[in-house]
Amino acid sequence: YQAKRDRTGVEAYESKRDSNTPDRLGLLGDLRRALDAHEVELHYQPKVRFDGQVSGLEALVRWVHPERGRVPPDEFIAIAESSGLMPQLTEYVLETALGQVAVWRSQGLFVPVAVNVSPRDVHSPGFAGSVAARLARHGVPAGALQLEITEHVLLEDPTRAADTLNALTGHGVKMSLDDFGTGYSSLVHLRRLPVSELKIDRSFVARLAVDTEDAEIVRCTIDLAHSLGLLVVAEGVEDDETWERLRDLRCDAVQGWLVAAAMPPDETTAWLLARGSRGWQRPAAALPAAT
Ligand code: C2E
Ligand code: MG
Ligand code: MG
Ligand code: MG
Repeated sequence: YQAKRDRTGVEAYESKRDSNTPDRLGLLGDLRRALDAHEVELHYQPKVRFDGQVSGLEALVRWVHPERGRVPPDEFIAIAESSGLMPQLTEYVLETALGQVAVWRSQGLFVPVAVNVSPRDVHSPGFAGSVAARLARHGVPAGALQLEITEHVLLEDPTRAADTLNALTGHGVKMSLDDFGTGYSSLVHLRRLPVSELKIDRSFVARLAVDTEDAEIVRCTIDLAHSLGLLVVAEGVEDDETWERLRDLRCDAVQGWLVAAAMPPDETTAWLLARGSRGWQRPAAALPAAT
């Protein structure tokens, strides 16, 4: 767990981490209340193409606990997942994200939003129908919603999962395969899942510019995805050199702190408006040419 926290750079929540401590149960109760009280927020992180165009925003859940401060998503999502609270969390996230998409659309900002869903969601009966109903209620076209899933959706009941995902894509919702490369038998999964986008996990991207093996893995993944007709997004792009390497490898889009971290809704609106139709420009590229 320590390593994970270091990797995400989140510094907040300190306590013992045994799976069923009173502490964990306390946190579960607090999360349930926080959802009811609308104290859980969504931040949005842009995905940008190499020409600077914003191809979408990923909704990332944020919870500031009144006493403990910021609780990292990895932590409370694991609790929600193992306690049966996940469907409620996902409903909350979908509802909030679609409400925000509707507001942005009314402001002339037609940017698609991606929501992370868990294997639990994909296995819950009626999930596809409830997503479709929610889109209709918000007056948001299905093409403005993307769902990020991981290979874990296929571990439990692959046939059921595939049915749900096919129903969702049938409604016009786009599917994205998150954290690619961290599961197992990834190639089999790629063939079975109706996804249109693949996200290369940050752990391969982080050392792309310095580690030749990671660079080779990224290159092969991009080529494979393209040969299957998928778009490729690289997660966790933090520096210029990585951005350039990915562009040279013909990756389609990037996400990462180089472009922007996840931002609260108002800041995201300002970020989108400030870029307008020019999209995002790298700071270096924005400098006037030397004379
Ligand atoms: P993810 O979907 O793979 O999201 C990417 C994570 O990488 C996010 O962490 C994001 O803040 C972080 N990140 C983005 N750019 C950079 C970068 O340049 N460098 C580094 N070091 N990190 C970067 P976050 O927000 O802590 O979320 C962690 C995970 O929690 C997510 O991984 C996702 O699996 C899960 N999650 C977040 N929100 C939700 C949600 O609403 N529902 C569900 N089911 N899961 C969620
Ligand atoms: Mg994601
Ligand atoms: Mg990811
Ligand atoms: Mg990840």
